Amino acid sequence: MKPVLSKNRKCRKISKIVRPVLALLFLCSMIFMTGCSRTSPRHLTDTDTAMGTVIIQQIYVDAAPRGFAASAPNEEEDITEEVLAHIRKLETETLSKRVKESEIFSINEEAGKGTTVPLSPGMEAILSQCLEISRASGGAFDITIGEVAGLWDIDTWAAMDDDTLNNHPTQYKLPNKDELSKALTLTGYEKLTLENQSIRMPEGMSLDLGAVGKGIALDEILTLLQEREVSGAVISVGGSILTYGEKPDKSPWRVAIADPDDRTGSIGVLNLTGQWCISTSGDYERYVEVDGIRYHHLIDPGTGYPARSGLSSVTILTKSGFLSDALSTACFVLGEEKGMELAKQYDVEAIFVREDGSISMTQGMQAYFHLSKPEK
Ligand code: AMP
Ligand code: MG
Repeated sequence: MKPVLSKNRKCRKISKIVRPVLALLFLCSMIFMTGCSRTSPRHLTDTDTAMGTVIIQQIYVDAAPRGFAASAPNEEEDITEEVLAHIRKLETETLSKRVKESEIFSINEEAGKGTTVPLSPGMEAILSQCLEISRASGGAFDITIGEVAGLWDIDTWAAMDDDTLNNHPTQYKLPNKDELSKALTLTGYEKLTLENQSIRMPEGMSLDLGAVGKGIALDEILTLLQEREVSGAVISVGGSILTYGEKPDKSPWRVAIADPDDRTGSIGVLNLTGQWCISTSGDYERYVEVDGIRYHHLIDPGTGYPARSGLSSVTILTKSGFLSDALSTACFVLGEEKGMELAKQYDVEAIFVREDGSISMTQGMQAYFHLSKPEK
């Protein structure tokens, strides 16, 4: 279990991870609540942390029609709590490689010893979709990156609160070449076997679902919203955002794409109607700087080092959370040319921000994207 942070520490921690996300959401929903009649949807908001990131929810709940008793406000508030509880359950029971009770943790423990391990139907589906993306991306996306990602440990470093960082500024140690070469021998999706609802992998290999966890969460939240009296919602799980339904004034959802050069700003806004999933993978999200070099969390499985693909970020727009999240990581590692091909192959829309700040996008994206910053 993660230690529970005191309120102050929690606030600091939220503020460290939340800054870019808040900036994003500030632009994301300029929502007006004027002239609420008894039948106007109620507007519920919540900001909290889960999955090592910030969860921001804005949900419109249908009020009871005239003549019917309105549902109790605390029942409605439960929707934001329910969403949060659902994300935390997904993390602790299924996806987390750190929480001992999760399915991935026990797969890494048992299958990592070379044993064949039975899988839940849900996990089997997730893993086989991941393998499909690995094949399609020629291995740029690879959940067997666990040992290599563990050596970099950037997630832990990036999640530290400011006090810890200030008191231990030189604590971060880069992995050395020998360690990385050894970890790379324990990487490779083609060495993993999924059959008869079970998994087999080489001894010492470990899985990391960090590249798809937030997208999977969006897909599950969508199912939850569809089962409830929700008329519209925009929910952000770190770099992945779900839009659903409509705003009371029927104007489009506005989702800002962060500027990799200045995370408090944006390069532009997506105007979206109804249900969409938007995921961004960027070199500015989690990184550590050592001797002036930025080491970020998007690893090239070919080298074991952070991918240097000429890009600063990739944003994917599609209906599926899983696909948006998996493809944003895959396209970042692949770089613009091959990433563009992969996006077309999956029929998703994509925006590529190059290291020099210039951008390119799929043709279909032009209908949604509105530039807010002059191109360099
Ligand atoms: P995202 O922010 O969705 O792009 O996911 C980044 C996370 O995915 C990292 O923190 C790692 O846990 C994991 N990861 C890094 N590189 C890869 C890769 N090439 N393929 C699959 N997962 C990766
Ligand atoms: Mg991803």
